Amino acid sequence: MSERTLAIIKPDAVKKHAIGDILSRYEKAGLKPVAMKLLHMAKPVAEGFYAVHKARPFFDSLCTFMSSGPSVVLVLQGDNAIKKNRELMGATDPAKAEQGTIRAAHGSNIEYNAVHGSDSPDTAQFEIGFFFPGMEIYDGR
Ligand code: ADP
Ligand code: MG
Repeated sequence: MSERTLAIIKPDAVKKHAIGDILSRYEKAGLKPVAMKLLHMAKPVAEGFYAVHKARPFFDSLCTFMSSGPSVVLVLQGDNAIKKNRELMGATDPAKAEQGTIRAAHGSNIEYNAVHGSDSPDTAQFEIGFFFPGMEIYDGR
């Protein structure tokens, strides 16, 4: 079933010039970008995006990291896009991520782990709407 997921190429990966490699991995896996932009999140924007984690000990540090430089935020569309992107990403901790995954290739540690991907249909709906109004998402892919 074709579905959409929200992906972020995080500031660490943008600083490492890994945008092109990561986009290529999405495309080769059949995940088609249907909306995309580069933006530098203000810290309150990162706090809003990660509100679900606000009780976690790493919340402040995570939001400081996510607002430390520009990110690429995009909507990916394809069959089982949510699960497929989570598989492409690998485990949250790059040291535990399987060989061949984005986090194994580009992540530095459990916080600076190169990419974000929605983890469920409900999360994807919230996260896509957080960054993109419907009119900015291409309808025909
Ligand atoms: P995922 O991104 O794999 O879905 P989580 O939703 O659990 O992982 O966490 C959100 C983000 O918070 C992670 O991608 C990572 O950047 C950061 N993070 C998660 N766990 C930790 C931790 N123990 N210490 C520091 N940062 C963390
Ligand atoms: Mg998550």
